[in-house]
Amino acid sequence: MCARTSCCSGANASLRSQMRTAKRATAGLILGGGWLLVFGGVAAGQMANDAPATREVPPLAGAAALDGALAAWLTEAQAVAASMQAAIHAGDAAAYLKHVVPAGGALGDTCFRQEQVGLAGDFAKRPVPDFAWTLEAGEVTIREQGITPRDLWPTPAAVNTPTRLELRASMSWTPAGASKPRNLVLPVAFVRADAGAAWLYAGERWQRHVRDADASTGFAGALVRFAAGDKVLAKEASLIAAQLPRVRREVDEHFGVRVKGVQEVKLYRSKAHLQGSVWLNYTDSLGGWNEPGESIKILVTDSTARRILGIVAHEYGHVASFELGPKATGAPWWALEGCAELASEGFRTDAKAKRDARVAGWLKRGELAPWADITPFPLKPEHARFNAHVYTQGEHLLAFVRDRFGADGYRALLVAMCQGESIEAASEKGLGKPWREVDALWRAEIQRQVDAAAAKALKKPDKLDPAGVPEKGPMQEGGQ
Ligand SMILES: [Zn+2]
Repeated sequence: MCARTSCCSGANASLRSQMRTAKRATAGLILGGGWLLVFGGVAAGQMANDAPATREVPPLAGAAALDGALAAWLTEAQAVAASMQAAIHAGDAAAYLKHVVPAGGALGDTCFRQEQVGLAGDFAKRPVPDFAWTLEAGEVTIREQGITPRDLWPTPAAVNTPTRLELRASMSWTPAGASKPRNLVLPVAFVRADAGAAWLYAGERWQRHVRDADASTGFAGALVRFAAGDKVLAKEASLIAAQLPRVRREVDEHFGVRVKGVQEVKLYRSKAHLQGSVWLNYTDSLGGWNEPGESIKILVTDSTARRILGIVAHEYGHVASFELGPKATGAPWWALEGCAELASEGFRTDAKAKRDARVAGWLKRGELAPWADITPFPLKPEHARFNAHVYTQGEHLLAFVRDRFGADGYRALLVAMCQGESIEAASEKGLGKPWREVDALWRAEIQRQVDAAAAKALKKPDKLDPAGVPEKGPMQEGGQ
């Protein structure tokens, strides 16, 4: 199973189109081989944040002149890239991962490593025979502080040193089941411990906002990464970093847990970029992603930018729910999305009114989804019409459980499911009632709300029946 995702719809301008607007200076060295995407690595600083504890991360200091050395390093990186490409063709996860930075140590990146393990797990099952990537370095300009490939990306902060190489990677491949190839152009980094060691892939070069842990409040820290030079993402990253203390506190309280460690978030402007960062073969629509040990990934569009905190809180809700039991990712999909929605209701406008109206409308029209149909992830094709039910029906049921059985009952139900119990067993264990009975009580409560709204509308015909509020998609997620 995979991550549950977040919200939103609408793809964006692709990174490729961003690249077109970036200045492309001279050619530079072009390396053969194909390649992949996805992130990690140290990034340059960006955008001051008005929250006092959020600080800028300064650009990397540069190295000395290295024209000739750079050519040699590129050749070395090419060999690494070719080996990784061959591993993708062969579906050999181990051969691929030996070229990726480790989880720990001086070069380590725990989060990126875990994401790469997930990505490799997918192509190990579904090899990608046409995957190809090209590494390219632009003209190198010697600056006072080091060497800057000025055409790499619309930011001047890239610096190559004997232990860090920043390149442009052009990638192309056809995901399983797709009719057209996918193309991405991304700034990536290779690192090594010393000049004699092998280069390791460190993922994309990001800019980032950091918010430090605060022992006085219990906040465990945040790191928000985004594509270098993207002003929209920079603004959102600043906001997210500033608000994550509140998000973490309120969502942790919702589940009765305390998630440890720095929470990492990665922001994307292109759906293809986000999809490709998850699995090479991922083709379903998605607006975000979260898996245990991975960063929260969010697709930022003009629409999501207005409700970004609700999306972040939803995704962090998944992170917190993974604390409830070792089999959390195996819980019914409607429960995982429902609790993430409920945990984020304080960050969404009119969350309760909207879910009540929507579910009432479904009841009236006989369109509530059978629970079994919204349990598996992904949904069966014949149940695709229930995608929104996964979120809103799941949220509504869990809100009912919380109101009727209290926060302890609500959490006990979730914990039982996250420990691997079936919904029937979890209901008995957490709520002391058969699931069939809980479902009947829930439906009766919706009917009561519908009847009450109808009676109210009769008294005040000029008032809008809540159950008649036009539906407006909540969060359209893909993938879990
Ligand atoms: Zn979700």
